[in-house]
Amino acid sequence: DPIISFDHVVKSYPSATAPGGTFLAVNDVSLDIHEGDIFGIIGYSGAGKSTLVRMINALERPTTGSVTVMGTDLAELSGKQLRALRQKIGMIFQQFNLFSTKTVAENVAYPLQLDHWRKDYQIRRVHDLLEFVGLLDHADKYPSQLSGGQKQRVGIARALATNPKILLADEATSALDPQTTMEVLELLQRVNQKFGVTVVLITHQMSVVQQIANCVAVMSSGSVVETGDVYDVFAAP
Ligand code: ADP
Ligand code: ADP
Repeated sequence: DPIISFDHVVKSYPSATAPGGTFLAVNDVSLDIHEGDIFGIIGYSGAGKSTLVRMINALERPTTGSVTVMGTDLAELSGKQLRALRQKIGMIFQQFNLFSTKTVAENVAYPLQLDHWRKDYQIRRVHDLLEFVGLLDHADKYPSQLSGGQKQRVGIARALATNPKILLADEATSALDPQTTMEVLELLQRVNQKFGVTVVLITHQMSVVQQIANCVAVMSSGSVVETGDVYDVFAAP
């Protein structure tokens, strides 16, 4: 069974131009993502990529259609069940979204605090995560003292804190230079291989998809216009 499944998903917003009309940000998308995939979602700005991916952790709700994650239709979850599910879904962002007044270690510990982990377990977990992303020496620094690539590695460590099964990456390398992009993609690949985390990666850059994804969906104007193995979708005609 797929770990994430979209079934005829539509997301409409009130139209900005036609009074009383609607605008389809996501237009009848059906898509399966399988456990262990690195699944790239590619398309121009405004294609509906973020809206689609934010439905995986119910930051957005479909107008019609259903989203099933790890065997559960998200529409059927209570608030408490949804919070539990979100601990199994980490997310990283283009602008990193770190807490500027917390240190690196405090940022990574934050999801563990929310989950009421015992303090000594938190300390050990944060240590292991910072070791994994290569930032042990920077534990007591603040985000403003880090490079973009280092900030994203903190974001990845924080997203992994509660042992998620799924990692959502929304333009996670778009603010980074090519060399740093490469390093962050290699880290995401290690996350996928070492922990079996399914990675859903939004990007507008073909090179990013080609470098690490095994599957890809191409979005345009709210629709998935092509999907399949990266090799097949991008094969020369
Ligand atoms: P992408 O991630 O591919 O850039 P988005 O999913 O962010 O695309 O946006 C798709 C479309 O939906 C855009 O035209 C955007 O302006 C519109 N949109 C997104 N969120 C909202 C919202 N909350 N209200 C109205 N329109 C929205
Ligand atoms: P609220 O419903 O109060 O806005 P949410 O939990 O829906 O709270 O989301 C608050 C913010 O937390 C979101 O804008 C998003 O940036 C972040 N967030 C939500 N879920 C996750 C997640 N699984 N991983 C990382 N960040 C998340």
